[in-house]
Amino acid sequence: MIELKTPAEIERMRQAGRVVAELLEALSAMLKPGLRTKDLDEAARAFIKSHGAKPAFLGYRGFPACVCVSVNEEVVHGIPGDRQLRAGDLVSLDAGAVVEGFYADAAVTRWVGSVPAASQRLVETTRQALEEGIAQAVEGKRLADISQAVQRVIESAGFGIVREFVGHGIGRALHEDPPIPNFVPVGVNPRLRAGMVLAIEPMVTMGRHEVEVLSDGWTAVTKDRSLAAHWEHTVAVTSRAPDILTQLPDA
Ligand code: MG
Repeated sequence: MIELKTPAEIERMRQAGRVVAELLEALSAMLKPGLRTKDLDEAARAFIKSHGAKPAFLGYRGFPACVCVSVNEEVVHGIPGDRQLRAGDLVSLDAGAVVEGFYADAAVTRWVGSVPAASQRLVETTRQALEEGIAQAVEGKRLADISQAVQRVIESAGFGIVREFVGHGIGRALHEDPPIPNFVPVGVNPRLRAGMVLAIEPMVTMGRHEVEVLSDGWTAVTKDRSLAAHWEHTVAVTSRAPDILTQLPDA
């Protein structure tokens, strides 16, 4: 069942989303060679707390950190640790925050120093797929309209679409109904209604689309170890324009 949120609930999610958006900007500004991925987690922990929110990921099914930091062939759910970033790394930062019991979730992919044009195209295509997907998140459309828009951008660029992980509804919990695949699904295809809040998150690979989870139980990597990118926003469906809750007001 897809739970509809009231305007007051969406405002709480916007507060959480604002914290996430500012956090991702702050973490992006820290990226440089030599930085340990756990430095990002420590900064995130302090940032979320000082902004009156709670980290959404810490302790979620036992996840040990406030942010997921996924480098290069890591697609999602990378655990921050002693790894030091190097020039040329692609870094996905995924974070969630909770305000008064309501969640927001977003991710960006950045790079350290300079990367080849093909890597930049992977990141930009993923971001473009997210934008096209978000544009479909209006009342009267159907869920598969989002999936189809995302899929079209990725496939026309010749990249791979991760199947094993998908977007999700969000609200009182980090993951709610509906699942939001980045490809047109078979089966139920609900009509979008004002008050639905959706975390749309294309996960895109430069090579084949298959992923596997490492022995830490979390880190998902491409099976062929090709590069991956990930962008995500939490979006409220309205009868007019999509309302992006994890975006800074001036963005
Ligand atoms: Mg998510």
